[in-house]
Amino acid sequence: AMSSSSYKSLLREKAFVNGQWVNAANRESFPVYNPANGELVCKVPDMGAADATAAIAHAQVAFEAWRGKTPSQRAALLHSWERLIQDRCEDLAALMTLENGKPLAESRGEVAYGASFIRWFAEEGIRVTGQTLQGPTPDKRIFTLKQPQGVCGMITPWNFPAAMITRKAGAALAAGCTVVIKPAEDTPLTALALCQLAADALLPPGALNVVTCSRSRAAEVGRVLTTDPAVKHVSFTGSTDTGKLLLAQASSTVKRVTMELGGNAPFIVFDSADVDKAVAGLIQAKFRNTGQTCVCPNRIFLQRRVSQKFLAKLCERVAEMKVGDGFEVCWLLGCWGIASSAHGLMRKQFSTSNQGEFDKGSEGELHKRSEGGIAQAAGTQLGPLINAAAESKLERLLADAKQRGGRVLAGGQSVKVGSGAGHFFQPTVVSGLGRDSACFREEIFGPLVAAFEFDSEADVVELANDCRVGLAGYFYSADVGQCWRVAEQLNVGMVGVNESMVSSCIAPFGGWNESGLGSESGVGYGIEEYLNLKTVVLNLA
Ligand code: ADP
Repeated sequence: AMSSSSYKSLLREKAFVNGQWVNAANRESFPVYNPANGELVCKVPDMGAADATAAIAHAQVAFEAWRGKTPSQRAALLHSWERLIQDRCEDLAALMTLENGKPLAESRGEVAYGASFIRWFAEEGIRVTGQTLQGPTPDKRIFTLKQPQGVCGMITPWNFPAAMITRKAGAALAAGCTVVIKPAEDTPLTALALCQLAADALLPPGALNVVTCSRSRAAEVGRVLTTDPAVKHVSFTGSTDTGKLLLAQASSTVKRVTMELGGNAPFIVFDSADVDKAVAGLIQAKFRNTGQTCVCPNRIFLQRRVSQKFLAKLCERVAEMKVGDGFEVCWLLGCWGIASSAHGLMRKQFSTSNQGEFDKGSEGELHKRSEGGIAQAAGTQLGPLINAAAESKLERLLADAKQRGGRVLAGGQSVKVGSGAGHFFQPTVVSGLGRDSACFREEIFGPLVAAFEFDSEADVVELANDCRVGLAGYFYSADVGQCWRVAEQLNVGMVGVNESMVSSCIAPFGGWNESGLGSESGVGYGIEEYLNLKTVVLNLA
């Protein structure tokens, strides 16, 4: 069932440059499909190098005015943008489910999560400070200034079509920079809807630009964004391979870079852990966005004594999960009694979907609806994979796991939903894997739980750190000393201790080693990525 929301009022089929809705210079366009059923949603401009260069030039002109506004003026505009995004939550969420496939409840969660970055950075922008230092000789004083860098080029992925844009653009705009974004070819519509809301919020033309292009032109547009001398910063979220390429390209003009790349997160359950909490945490983090997030637990390490119990409970929960179209919701009509029992059911379902913070909002909203005698529950918990390649990869990883002696405890099959054109996969659990398996080395990016057993803390820390990336890591333990020791020893940028949701506007987000460079969000860190440091030495004599 299609949502009744008016998302069409936010559907834009042109790119957004200098405050105008524009076509590609070559007049070409490319299709956007609904991954749940393979249907064509619409076409958007397939822009090339010339369009990217033009957008950068407009952003450069806009920068001269934008940098001259006071931080409070910029904050006021960002707050308006955030408010409009929140107001249009239902429409944005529907658009996101349409192009990305994630369950509607998750899309709503992402709208709130995405908006939170704009609010956060509006507040960060007005508190940028420098230092006043004593001089090395009596006649000198030293000051530091932080100033906006200029035009920022941004390339974003499809798995969080709103939040990966707001986390970058919110920071850059608050800092006084202007931006040119190339959204993922799978999900340009959310990006364009955000532009409409930015225009409605009266963000000046040229401050926020979105250049859309197909995968076949991504390299061409990416080259311009990473090499044009007017671009001072390249911010990218996506795969490690693409990140390395963009990093190399950005080096030719020594641009500042922010890179949020792939991970291979360990999720460790020690014998002392609260098993129910660990299972709930894994389900929440692993299956969010159908397992397609860079911080998804990838290697599940279970201590020998707790392993069977954990896997049994996990399989029980996994068996209840509903795979389907993200728009599928079940309507429950009736008296208060039915509605309130439905409410209990929904609480359970929501608790497996979004960021805890936003569940509370969803629950409040549901409660209101329940009181009205009508309750809406998110039926689907696992939407489609983004495309056929994602399904083939899962099948390859699963075949490798089986061939190496892994046991499939749950799932293991693709699922036909509706027309059969979407790529759906059962939530799957495989145990008994070793370090030689492909699941140990590769980012799974799908609803496949790959479980490994271990004996000691030292062993599991060694196993967890046996990879070149280091984005997130999670572990469950009731031993306080162990919590400190293991948190300190994991070679990752973010650690969840008895917690599986580590990202918010408040927490710095970033990876170690081949997982990236720089931080997004957090106090100071996120906004400073977009500020240049200037030292001023004043002679008093
Ligand atoms: P995925 O394979 O999951 O799509 P990518 O890292 O390739 O992950 O994609 C993330 C973003 O990077 C998308 O916007 C995509 O279009 C873009 N991209 C992919 N290849 C290139 C490239 N060679 N140059 C610039 N952008 C690219």
